[in-house]
Parts: sequence; C-alpha cells; structure tokens
Amino acid sequence: MKCFCFQDSARRAHSIAAQGGINAAKNYQNDGDSVYRLFHDTIKGGDFRSREANVYRLAEISNNIIDQCVAQGVPFAREYGGLLANRSFGGAQVSRTFYARGQTGQQLLLGCYQALCRQIAAGTVQMFPQTEMLDLVIVEGHAKGIVARNLCSGKIERHAADTVVLATGGYGNVFYLSTNARGCNVTATYRAYKRGALFANPAFTQIHPTCIPVGGEYQSKLTLMSESLRNDGRVWVPKRKEDRNKAPGEIPETDRDYYLERKYPSYGNLSPRDISSRAAKEVCDEGRGVGPGGRGVYLDFADAIKRLGEHTIRERYGNLFEVYEKITGENAYKVPMRIYPAVHYTMGGLWVDYDLMSNVPGLFVIGEANFSDHGANRLGASALMQGLADGYFVLPNTLPNYLAGQMGKRPSLDSPEFRETEKDVRARIEKLLNVNGTRSVDSFHRELGLLLWDKCGMLRHEKGLREALKKIPELREQFWHEVRVPGDGDDLNQSLERAGRVADFLEFAELMCIDALERDESCGGHFREEHQTADGEALRDDENHAAVFAWEFQGNGQPPKLHREPLNFETVHLTQRSYK
Ligand SMILES: Cc1cc2nc3c(=O)[nH]c(=O)nc-3n(C[C@H](O)[C@H](O)[C@H](O)COP(=O)(O)OP(=O)(O)OC[C@H]3O[C@@H](n4cnc5c(N)ncnc54)[C@H](O)[C@@H]3O)c2cc1C
Repeated sequence: MKCFCFQDSARRAHSIAAQGGINAAKNYQNDGDSVYRLFHDTIKGGDFRSREANVYRLAEISNNIIDQCVAQGVPFAREYGGLLANRSFGGAQVSRTFYARGQTGQQLLLGCYQALCRQIAAGTVQMFPQTEMLDLVIVEGHAKGIVARNLCSGKIERHAADTVVLATGGYGNVFYLSTNARGCNVTATYRAYKRGALFANPAFTQIHPTCIPVGGEYQSKLTLMSESLRNDGRVWVPKRKEDRNKAPGEIPETDRDYYLERKYPSYGNLSPRDISSRAAKEVCDEGRGVGPGGRGVYLDFADAIKRLGEHTIRERYGNLFEVYEKITGENAYKVPMRIYPAVHYTMGGLWVDYDLMSNVPGLFVIGEANFSDHGANRLGASALMQGLADGYFVLPNTLPNYLAGQMGKRPSLDSPEFRETEKDVRARIEKLLNVNGTRSVDSFHRELGLLLWDKCGMLRHEKGLREALKKIPELREQFWHEVRVPGDGDDLNQSLERAGRVADFLEFAELMCIDALERDESCGGHFREEHQTADGEALRDDENHAAVFAWEFQGNGQPPKLHREPLNFETVHLTQRSYK
C-alpha cells in the first residue's frame, strides 16, 4: 500500500486540530442514550438531508471506535473511578462526547499514526510525505492510480494501484478565512470530479458559532474555540445597543440578553451550530455585537467558575483558555471570551454509495472528503466519529469486495492513460508559472473568500448567488492573466503549490454557488433568505428537495449536470426541526 500526504508527516494532517471530542452512544452516563438516539439526533441535526441507512450504521459503529482507540492507547479523559468521561455537544440532550482535554483530534491521530508506523516498519505501507496528488488516473473506467508531485524536488511521479482511496479532508478554505489548517484544499476531490466523480451537495458548508472574531484585514487564519466550551460558558450580548461598548463587568445581569437560552430554552447554549451561528449574526446585525467592529458575542464562564471553581474549568479547558489568551491578550477566567461564527467544516464532498465508493469504480472516498452522513449540518464531535467509522470499520469490509475482482489488473505506468494524465499535470504547472503577472496568489484567494462569505456564506439569496456566479468567472479570468507565481517547478515552491490550489478553488466556488442556487429551500447550514419560517428558522421543501444533489462535470466552460438521489426515510418522521 502506498500512502500520500502533503505535510512532512501524516501526523500533521489537519485532524490534529480537532479539539472537543468524538461522539459514541455508549450511554456511560445512564442519561438515556442509545444507538437509535444518536442516529436520530444526527439525522435531525443534519436537517433531514442525509441518508438514513448510512447514519444508522455510523451510530452503531460509534461504540466500536472508542474501544478501538482505547486499545491503541488514546488517553481519553477518565472520571475519578476510572471510567471514560463524557461531556455534551450541540444538538444533543445527553452526554456522549469522549474527549482528551481540548486535543482530542491530536490524540486520536497519534493512536492512528503509531499503527501506521507499525505497518511502515512491517513493510506493508510505503509512505510518501510532502507529496501532493494532482490528478486521478482512470483506466477502462476504473480508478487505477494517481499522478503526484514531490513537493521537495518538484518531480512529477506516476503511481499505479488496484484501487484509490481519497481521505483528503474538507474544502472550507475556499472561503480563505476559516478554522481549517492553511493547507486544507479541494484539489484532490475537485480533480477527481473533473475525471468523472460526482460532487455531492457542495453548497453544504458549516459555520461554527464559537471562533475568535476576525482581528484585522491581513489575517489569514481563524481560530476555533471548541464547542465543548458551551457546556459551561453562557452566550450573551447586551440587551441595548448603547451598552455594547461598555466593559462586560459594567453590564448588570438584568441588562444582558442570554439569547440562546431565551430563544431555545430546551437546548440553550448547546443548540446546534447552524442555529447558534445565525442567532449570533442576528444580534450583531441588530447592533448589539461586542468588541471591535461589533462582530462578537460573549461566551461567559463566570457562573461556571462560581459553581465549580476555576480549578475545574482549568482542568476541562485549560489549553483553550491559553490559546485564547495568546491570541487576544485577554484572560477568559476574568473577562468573558468574545466569539463569532466562522467557516469550519464542509458537509459536501464526493458522492459515495453505501460502500463508500464513488461512481467511478475503484475510487473510494472517506472522512470529510465524502458527502456521506451529515446532511445539511454536522453536529459537533461527529466528524471524527464519521472519519474513524469510515476508515477503521466500513472500508475494511467494503473495499475487499471490489478488490476481489481486480487483482492482477494493475496498469503499467507507461500506459497511455498515465502518460496523458501526466501531460495534463505538467501543462497546468507550466501555465501557472508562465502567467508572470503582478498579483499574488493570496490576493485572489482573499477576494474569492470575501465574495463567497458575502454571497454564499451564513445567509444566501438568489440575487446574491447570481451575482457571485457572474463575478467568479471574471475573477478566474483575471487570475489566469495577472497572477504571479515566483520560482520554478523543479524545486520546493510553496507559491506554486498554493497557486494550483487556489486555481481549483476558483473553479470549485462556481459549483458551490450553482448548487446553492439550485437548492431552492433552507436546510441546516444552507439558509436561503427567501425560505424561512415566521420566526426566522430554516424552511425546508421536502416535496421537491429531499434529495442529494450530485453534480457531474461536463467539460470546462460547460454547466455541470445535476443528478438527484432521492432521500427516503423509513424510520424517521420528517418534521420542522425545533430546539425550543
Ligand atoms: C479547529 C477544528 C476543530 C475541530 N474539532 C473537532 C472535534 O472536536 N470533533 C470532531 O468530530 N471534529 C472536529 N473537527 C472536524 C474534524 O477535525 C475534521 O472533519 C476531520 O479531522 C477531517 O479528517 P480527515 O481525515 O477527513 O481529513 P484531514 O485530517 O484534513 O486529512 C487529510 C489528509 O489528506 C492529505 N491530502 C489532502 N489533499 C492531498 C493531496 N492533494 N495530495 C496528497 N495528500 C493530500 C493531507 O495531507 C492529510 O493528511 C474540527 C475541525 C477544526 C477545523
């Protein structure tokens, strides 16, 4: 097996950033949890836009994941008596999230990475770090290899295989500013799309409610404050906009609006992400936002500290408070944190069947890169659950079925398909290097991100989406005439790497807006202003849009073709989602 990643080690994959935890229906807290309840919460959390069967399987597997990770030595938090501890995440009224302080992703990744290292030492896996897949090779309709670039030497390499698995993460960075690692991109999945793989629900992106607000124009990255903080932190803004510049301590209890607790009394501060994000935007739009620019709300731990003591809060979230202080210079044990929604996760991805195989035979897609289980909104602590379910439990059962009929069919590296694909990759690199313009890659990325945030972000409407669809091709045109990529292709060249990724974002953004326009309803993170209930909640159109939208590439400059996979619900009853 050959394993590729663009970082210097797979240990540095973006998953390392995951903070809060991973869900499982173990019911250790005896609070009424069950596989069915996790399944139901996840379907409802996704606003009834995911496949029932997939989500049920995910809920069932969730328990095995925890056992697997414990066996690998992952140091989950434990209670005094030794049992694994839990906390709560949004969209659930039970406590089912397993965690390792604020570094759950890192610990899970270490468990996984040591198992990978064991296989490398055993000779069953060959590792290719700092190697970027730039295209998919298709031979007689099957995925049979990749063309990659060694990022240190610039060498273009061909790799043949019996099957290809993409576990290449999400595309939130299309918005430029996001909580994702700077390297996250859409290149692998988008280039597979251009080779025939369907892209499902690209407009389904998630805005996370608790991030450190944007601090200035030249910022390139946003920082997440884990949703787990909402277990103990209370979200509020001043009731009157005149108070928004006062220090929080000067605003008495009676003048504070704990708007999540007020609007959603049964879930309160643990309302799902899409709902909490929109509520934050709403109060800021009313002029009640706090901090510079008025784009912030308070996340206040004063009550929790009074009730549990600073020591307990430090034990639970110490590293997050430290991160916050390093970035803002404020001590959140003493003054409330300021938070604001930011792009965080992408529910869309390559279309896969129940076996996690795309419509291209032999191309499997797992983790955030596929569209599978989260519908129109992912619940907190469910991405790790899905990624690990896919990789540890689903794929080992489904991939061998495909492989059984494929042994001995690996193509030669000299086959015309490999030669052609490599030629295309080289041509694209040459084209990027030859533009020789005057604008930086980042300046295009930034402009695209601002446009998308404005027109295809937390709120979308037909007019804005049509404007974006006009502007994106213009921006792309400018990119190919004005971008400057210094250096050459035969060496380490990070500008070239970024240019290739931004070029893909500039095409992919158009697909996102086409999808957002076609989905003429509001659901989860996809909120079309035209479709809302009297009290401002998302209004679905189940009759016409209870479907996965899977897009097929039809050639450069051609509109993509839509395939609709109807979603049939046998167990769950479709209702207006309510967290009140
Ligand atoms: C700040 C933050 C906190 C989060 N906290 C949580 C949490 O508490 N709980 C939770 O469930 N989820 C959380 N998430 C979401 C979760 O971390 C991600 O959805 C998940 O880690 C994605 O894992 P993945 O394996 O699919 O992709 P990644 O971890 O992004 O890995 C992708 C891999 O693919 C490789 N790759 C990509 N493109 C190429 C290419 N072209 N060529 C070669 N290699 C390539 C990369 O090198 C990398 O190794 C969080 C996300 C963020 C941003």
